[in-house]
Amino acid sequence: MDKNCLFCKIVTGDIPSQKVYEDETVVAFRDIDPQAPEHILLIPRRHIPTTLDLAAAERELVGHIFLVAGQLARKLGFAEAGFRIVNNCNAAGGQLVWHLHFHLLAGRQMGWPPG
Ligand code: AMP
Ligand code: ZN
Repeated sequence: MDKNCLFCKIVTGDIPSQKVYEDETVVAFRDIDPQAPEHILLIPRRHIPTTLDLAAAERELVGHIFLVAGQLARKLGFAEAGFRIVNNCNAAGGQLVWHLHFHLLAGRQMGWPPG
């Protein structure tokens, strides 16, 4: 827990969010500024700043996040149509919040290349 971290405060509930899933290691909630009709953020409860800070021991955690993303896609009804999972890392990657997160986007046709 980093007391200055926005997403750590969402994990603890100190900052409100629209949670759609949570378990012992992962929390998923709706993005406050959605970039698609469905825009969910999946985060580890543990404060890990970026993808580059992942340790080998966290490989299972990242795999679990992807499994949860797939479960949510099915549950929310956009698995068949399709979706996109995005991780922005560091400044040129577009990262604004320094707590590892994966964007789950759906509900419209995604463009390529991404912006
Ligand atoms: P990134 O640019 O990958 O670091 O993404 C950060 C994301 O966090 C953006 O899509 C923001 O809209 C989202 N965000 C920022 N503050 C909140 C909040 N309080 N609740 C939900 N999502 C947030
Ligand atoms: Zn954090």
